[in-house]
Amino acid sequence: MKHDRYAVFGNPVAHSLSPRIHAAFAAQAEQDMTYEAIHAPRDGFAAFLRRFVAEDGRGANVTVPFKEEAFRLCDILTPRARDAGAVNTLSLEEGVIQGDNTDGVGLVHDIEHNLGWSLQGKRILLIGAGGAARGVLPPLLGQRPARLMLTNRTPEKAEILAEEFVRATDSPLTTGALESLSESFDIVINATSASLANAPIPLPNRVFAPDSLAYDIMYGRHTPFLEQAGKAGASVLSDGLGMLVEQAAESFYIWRGLRPVTRPVLETLRAEYR
Ligand code: NDP
Repeated sequence: MKHDRYAVFGNPVAHSLSPRIHAAFAAQAEQDMTYEAIHAPRDGFAAFLRRFVAEDGRGANVTVPFKEEAFRLCDILTPRARDAGAVNTLSLEEGVIQGDNTDGVGLVHDIEHNLGWSLQGKRILLIGAGGAARGVLPPLLGQRPARLMLTNRTPEKAEILAEEFVRATDSPLTTGALESLSESFDIVINATSASLANAPIPLPNRVFAPDSLAYDIMYGRHTPFLEQAGKAGASVLSDGLGMLVEQAAESFYIWRGLRPVTRPVLETLRAEYR
């Protein structure tokens, strides 16, 4: 019997949790599907994807370093993908490749539903101007924060990124230099790759308002960013495991039309990372 086939493409990809997450969603929703991790060579993503399409693959996730290339290979892009300039979810039908980006909505769901923090009216600091920051910026703005300040180690990159999204004169989006930020924020989100290298970010302690939320989109580790935030007064510290599960749930919904219950899946993974 033929199962609907899904995959995640990446390099490296062996440690991806996505196959486990989607297997759990499929079992929960009684979906007849498989989901595998495919390690594509850095210069061979397009060929691997073409083969997957020819072999009747129904959909795929795309992770580092192929999200921008996937964006360029799509025949159709959703507004979310266009805004992000990167694609993490592909739907494949009769040879047509549709690209979406669920990273941002995954972050918003994790903060609002799992952590119970409304983003509306909050002062938010978003650190980073790479692919991840670009993906989460529009959905964060969509939650109507009072203020969203974008900052980055290389300030010009934050300014270029912000310019793309300041569409109204009353936009809450502004930029600021990382080391000289003088305000405090209710929610501080680290969307840089500094934590991958276990590197601290040159961030003044004053950015963390008393009882603020500090969120590192990297998962599975107590990062130097979260360490600093805890000492500086943030009362809730979160890694990005919930974002990972929630972006997967959104991909699953796109493919299967069903919303999985994420909490038991997140709790199982969380127990392993404790
Ligand atoms: P990019 O390479 O596109 O961007 C890297 C960003 O990090 C840049 O803004 C860069 O600044 C900044 N940076 C790197 N090192 C440092 C440092 N030592 N101090 C300060 N800033 C630094 O990476 P991505 O945006 O694609 O990915 C970022 C992270 O997000 C990764 O760790 C990835 O695993 C994670 N991620 C997690 C997801 C989840 O579901 N939880 C989903 C997607 C991504 P500069 O411009 O100055 O170089």
